[in-house]
Amino acid sequence: MDDRMFRTAMGKFATGVTVIASEANGDVHGMTANAFMSVSLDPKLILISVGKNAKMNQTIQEARKFTVNILSDAQQEMSMIFAGQLKDRDVAFDTFEGMPVIENSLVSLACNVYDSHEAGDHMLYIGEVVNLSVQDGEPLTFFEGKYNNQVTS
Ligand code: FAD
Repeated sequence: MDDRMFRTAMGKFATGVTVIASEANGDVHGMTANAFMSVSLDPKLILISVGKNAKMNQTIQEARKFTVNILSDAQQEMSMIFAGQLKDRDVAFDTFEGMPVIENSLVSLACNVYDSHEAGDHMLYIGEVVNLSVQDGEPLTFFEGKYNNQVTS
C-alpha cells in the first residue's frame, strides 16, 4: 500500500465539510477540515484531526479553544478559501461565545480543548462543546476529492 492508494481509499468515505476557526494573539484563523466526528454525549465531546504542520495546530495550542462550523451547500467558497484554494479573500466572522464563527453555517460548535493526542503527522483534538447554534439547510458534502458529487470532465 502506498500513500496514493491510502488517500484514494480514504476518499471513498463521504463526509460533510467543516471550517475550524480559532483566535490567538488577536489573529483569527480558519482551516477547512473533514476529519470531524461526534465522540460523547456526557460530557458532550467532538474530535478533529489537524495536520501538525498546519498553522491551525499552533493557533489551537495557544488558544486552547476553537469552533467547528459545519458548512451548507451554499458555502463551497468558504471551504475553498480556508483550504487555501482561493487566495486573498476577506471573510467576515461572527462571534459566538467569544470565539470566531463562519456566518450562515448549518451548525457552529464552540469548544474548549478537553484533550489532545499526537497521532503520526496529525494532532487529534477532543473538544468539549460549551454551546452550539443550528440552522436549517442542506450540507456541503465531499467524496473522492469532489464537492456535492460534482462531475469533472
Ligand atoms: P493556511 O494554509 O495558512 O490557511 C488556509 C487558508 O485559509 C489560507 O488561504 C488563508 O489565507 C485562509 N485564511 C485563514 N484565516 C483567514 C482569515 N481570517 N481570513 C481570510 N482567510 C483566511 N487538513 C487537516 O489538517 N485536517 C482535515 O481534516 C482536513 N480536511 C480537509 C477537507 C477538505 C475538503 C479540504 C479541501 C482540505 C482539508 N484539509 C485538512 C487541508 C487543509 O484545509 C489545508 O491544508 C489548509 O491550507 C491548512 O491550513 P493552515 O492552518 O495550515 O493555514
